[in-house]
Amino acid sequence: MSPPGRPKGEYRSAQREGKSQIRRVCLFCGSSPGARPVYAATGKAFGQAVAAHGMGLVYGGGSVGLMKIAAEAALEAGGEVIGVITQQLMVREVGHPGLTRLEVVPTMHERKMRMANHADAFVALPGGFGTFDELCEMATWDQLGIHAKPLVMLNVDGYFDGFLAQLDRAVEDRFVKPEHRTMLAVVTEVESVFTAMDSWRAPEVPNWLLQGTPKP
Ligand code: AMP
Repeated sequence: MSPPGRPKGEYRSAQREGKSQIRRVCLFCGSSPGARPVYAATGKAFGQAVAAHGMGLVYGGGSVGLMKIAAEAALEAGGEVIGVITQQLMVREVGHPGLTRLEVVPTMHERKMRMANHADAFVALPGGFGTFDELCEMATWDQLGIHAKPLVMLNVDGYFDGFLAQLDRAVEDRFVKPEHRTMLAVVTEVESVFTAMDSWRAPEVPNWLLQGTPKP
């Protein structure tokens, strides 16, 4: 079930050469636009920036909320946008009709896997349970070495401050290792997302975990 990981070394060499190796970035964000105008403005700016960087955008394929705002901004700026949506959401007509490509899959699990396979990095903007779930699952996959892909949170207007405080508590109480806490890059400006993706370092994964051998 493991999606193919990107060798960690690629990011290091990309940084040395000064060019990004990220071809497609997967966005997790709200199916609602949120209460504060800054969320929609940031979603739009992020979609435009992805296209301006020559990257493709992968997302949940919806025509609602922040997801829609970011996807349409990327499309209008001439970018490639791939949506991956479930049959259930398609039937309810929330699938976006104007994307470069819209893939319809049977389950949420397959959808997440497909989005992860299409993308070289993940970015979270404000959202609800769906966004938290997607962000946490991709962090878990990085932690377990299932893949090694940058994870960046765009903390718009302090929206994720409470979530980050919970992570700090988890480190303090030894449920999360410090090296896994820093695996989630946190930025507050759209442009910083791109620098953070390029300078991201995958955590070390213990050999016993990678090789599937019993822990010594
Ligand atoms: P939430 O943060 O709970 O609004 O959920 C947003 C995330 O879950 C997105 O990144 C999507 O992948 C997925 N999602 C939730 N609701 C929808 C929807 N109506 N249409 C498409 N994707 C959705």
